[in-house]
Amino acid sequence: MTGSPSAECPFCRIVRKETAAKIVFEDERVLAFEDIRPQAPVHILIIPKKHFDSLAGAPEGSEGLLGELLLRAREIAGKKGIASNGYRIVLNTGPQSGQQVFHIHFHLLGGRPMSWPPG
Ligand code: AMP
Ligand code: ZN
Repeated sequence: MTGSPSAECPFCRIVRKETAAKIVFEDERVLAFEDIRPQAPVHILIIPKKHFDSLAGAPEGSEGLLGELLLRAREIAGKKGIASNGYRIVLNTGPQSGQQVFHIHFHLLGGRPMSWPPG
């Protein structure tokens, strides 16, 4: 699904404030909140308020919005104090990536050394 809110989507519910979340950034287009099961000392999810299932569902024309998500992630990394040591941004896309929530989201992870390759 592209662009329209989903009644069942857990992240659309957070956007509509029907589910509580620890919100760290919000404007008209973007919401960022703490991951409920953090995998690092800093683990923030950055989402568009508009629903796209995944990167695969993001339409042509969403370049600006996708770029905005990355710039907001960079800002949050600065505010959380992880910019100088570095951080990882993850965009799981589709079943084999481990994507579980089908509302596109960037993970911002930091505050510990990251290994490579990822699991
Ligand atoms: P992914 O595997 O990329 O789809 O990641 C989904 C992420 O969403 C996981 O890291 C979950 O811990 C996180 N998550 C699921 N539900 C919530 C929620 N209600 N509030 C915050 N994070 C959530
Ligand atoms: Zn959604």
